[in-house]
Order: sequence, then C-alpha cells, then structure tokens
Amino acid sequence: MTLTEKVLPAPPPFVHPEVKPFWEATAEGRLVLPKCLECDTLIWYPRPFCPNCASTRVEWIAASGRGSIYSFTVNRRGQADLAAYREAGVYVLAYVELEEGPRVMTNIVDCDPDSVRIGQQVEVVFHDTGQGTALPRFRPRGA
Ligand SMILES: [Zn+2]
Repeated sequence: MTLTEKVLPAPPPFVHPEVKPFWEATAEGRLVLPKCLECDTLIWYPRPFCPNCASTRVEWIAASGRGSIYSFTVNRRGQADLAAYREAGVYVLAYVELEEGPRVMTNIVDCDPDSVRIGQQVEVVFHDTGQGTALPRFRPRGA
C-alpha cells in the first residue's frame, strides 16, 4: 500500500485563539509564519510570543511553501495512540526545513514512501479538515 492508494486522515487541530491567523490562512491555502518584530526571529511552532526574546510583538508573514526534507521516517504500522491514523496505512512523517528556516513536523504525501529522500525538494499542500482549517503537508516538487 502506498500513499497514492490511500489518503491520510486530516483530523482538525486544536485552534488556540492566539494562533488563529495561522489556521485561518491554511483554510485559504496559505502558509504563514509568525515573525518577531523586535528581533526578526521566525517562530515555529506558531505561538503568539517570541521564544528568542519573549516579545509579544509578532506579525504573520507569508511563507513560500517550499522546503526540503530534513529527516523522515516511514510509518508502516497504525499508531494506537493516534486514533485518526490507526487505519492510515503506510505514511511518511518528516521534518521539512522551510526555505525561511524553520523545521516543521509534517507528512510527505502524493508519492511512494520508498522514494522519499533526505534533501528532497518539497512544496506545501493543504488537506482540508472539514472544520475551517487545513493541515499543511508536503509533496515532492517538480515531480
Ligand atoms: Zn524576538
């Protein structure tokens, strides 16, 4: 079984009010990153303060949606602790390093899991949760 045969589930995330802009953007097919206005740090995961200088002066900037695979693992067995993924079949869990720098935990989709490689160029896709948000995932670029 490959990812092209089975679509990953897209369970809705818990949306904390302070990171609502992130999730609202995903619903519109845009990837945004919080950026600290005091020290220019790009913040990941999304949160309403800067982990570098503790400032709460944060703005949301548009990310390119492009990156490369920093590390990954192919999950071939259902995870009992993640109910939504129990029947997901084989899928790829990865850290993607965005062009802007942050490393994002995500899934690699729309490809054969056995073809995934470290350093591979990827681009974001959005999987609708059906509840006003979408999960950013990545697929090989130019494939
Ligand atoms: Zn800062």
